[in-house]
Amino acid sequence: MFDLNDKDQLRTAIALIKELELELPLSGSDLRQLQKKYTYADGRMPSKADLISLYKQLAGKHNLQPYSEEVVAQLRMKPIRTSSGVAPVTVLTKPFPCPGQCIFCPSDVRMPKSYLASEPGAQRAEHNFFDPYLQTYNRLQALYDMGHHIEKVELIVLGGSWSVYPLPYKIWFIKECFRAMNEFGKSDDRESLVSFYQQKIREISQLEKVALTSDSKLNEQIFSKYQPQQDSAEEKTYNCIVEELFAEAEKKVGLSSYQSADWSELEDLQHKNETSRLRCVGLVLETRPDLVDENEAVELRRFGATKVQLGLQSLNDRVLKLNKRGHTVDQSARAMQLLRQAGFKLHVHWMPNLFGSTPELDKQDYLKLFDDDRFKPDEIKIYPCSLIESAPLMRYYHRGEWQPYSHDELLDVLSFCLINTPEYCRVTRVVRDIPSFEIVAGNKKTNFRQIAQQDMEKREQLSQNIRAREIRNEKFKLNDVVLDEVEYSAGSGQEIFLQYVAEIEGVKRILGFLRLSLPEDSAFIAELEGAAIIREVHVYGQMVELGQEADGKVQHLGLGSKLIARAKELAQEASYKRLAVISAIGTKEYYRERGFEDSGLYQVADF
Ligand code: SF4
Repeated sequence: MFDLNDKDQLRTAIALIKELELELPLSGSDLRQLQKKYTYADGRMPSKADLISLYKQLAGKHNLQPYSEEVVAQLRMKPIRTSSGVAPVTVLTKPFPCPGQCIFCPSDVRMPKSYLASEPGAQRAEHNFFDPYLQTYNRLQALYDMGHHIEKVELIVLGGSWSVYPLPYKIWFIKECFRAMNEFGKSDDRESLVSFYQQKIREISQLEKVALTSDSKLNEQIFSKYQPQQDSAEEKTYNCIVEELFAEAEKKVGLSSYQSADWSELEDLQHKNETSRLRCVGLVLETRPDLVDENEAVELRRFGATKVQLGLQSLNDRVLKLNKRGHTVDQSARAMQLLRQAGFKLHVHWMPNLFGSTPELDKQDYLKLFDDDRFKPDEIKIYPCSLIESAPLMRYYHRGEWQPYSHDELLDVLSFCLINTPEYCRVTRVVRDIPSFEIVAGNKKTNFRQIAQQDMEKREQLSQNIRAREIRNEKFKLNDVVLDEVEYSAGSGQEIFLQYVAEIEGVKRILGFLRLSLPEDSAFIAELEGAAIIREVHVYGQMVELGQEADGKVQHLGLGSKLIARAKELAQEASYKRLAVISAIGTKEYYRERGFEDSGLYQVADF
């Protein structure tokens, strides 16, 4: 960075920002020219994040023009990251035993089960000692430095099976994420936390035990001899190794007691977050279907969760059994039913090419997902099974019992899935983003969604799923915006998917939507008794700061309020006594302003 206390460097920095202002609007090559022209003393080019930071410090001073959001927008890197209106922050829990024995699941004892140390999100977690405060704060800082707005945060907690971690650890984990959001830009505990972890690592090594450091190279060296061996007859499992390596040592040095909290501590920080500058507008937790019952659904809600990621993987009991999933299709259906009743958004994982499946079986399975009322997810990740060295599937592969689909077979299955996804569902990912060197056999292309889309375009086919229709920078006329209501049965009731759309070049581009559940069953949560439930409200557009005006942006057309008003009408017409909403901690104020009152774990408007 330029040292602004140094007169020469300050002069250079001012000249750079002046030229930047003159050159607007910038093309990619204009920007690169500028970066090359104003290098640092050591010859390095300032990054885009450096330019944004510099611009924020200097705008409006030294005869430079006042601060303008447009300049930051031009410099902003990867604008797609916050284009759906929220800043996503993904955090990982620490390595911990998982009750699943899924044969396709990789095992790396440095990671929570199923994650690979080479995945970008996993690397960030490792660099932060898997500490939730450090992960959240540092991710927010990185997004902020890249010029993104971070006022509305979607917190995505990944790692093994959330439900099996000890309750005090889970409460502490979420509490620390909230603490980071609440403290961001006001106070900063990062330095003292890093010292704390370093001290604990020293204490663990004095016990002659091994500890995870924040240095991935070092961890790789330390832990290579502890990794489970798939070809050994006396194979020690991931669960067993993780338990032996970490549990006792963490207890002895007091790490376990630090990593625990009670509900009142969490609730206190949740309460503060309701009016904090950075608010949690969505919290996502992931678990297995067989771990979901009524109590679990209530507990997920107490954490403030609004969406649950559920690993269904297949709707075929034979395939589930062959892959040692440890749960049945009926258990998946039951979990979906309970979570829908509790108002959660349902985000499922589904895997083609599992051991024992075929392209034809996969296609039938995918159709069942949306034909069978017990499922019908709101979002889906389609992760074709990949062969990873550390997964038991290696043995099946060596015995010739499992083969990855060919490129054409996979293309056929994935295109079929995209075409057959209904318009109320969002395909969030196609193919897991695993570095290609980790994949022993099979597809290594992470852009398979584009490949499938191009293939579909050639055949003049179009996916109707939400992601394919989200409005991005397309221009539309207000007169062309219409409210479309898609009704379908799901669970034991009806769902209405209300979407504001504008037809652009033959595609119903989606500007915002609301998911309304009209359940028939009596709810197992008292505050939802007799209630229709808003499970999600989402309005698209580049995120704008809370309370800030941004004329012409989709988020300022009042679509959210209009969708809620229409949901109220529909619930009343269907004779419900009340309308409940599964609000996130940081959206409670928004719903209070729209006539909802706090009621236990939800907010409700009585009729
Ligand atoms: S439940 Fe998930 S994390 Fe656990 S073994 Fe199966 S795939 Fe891996």
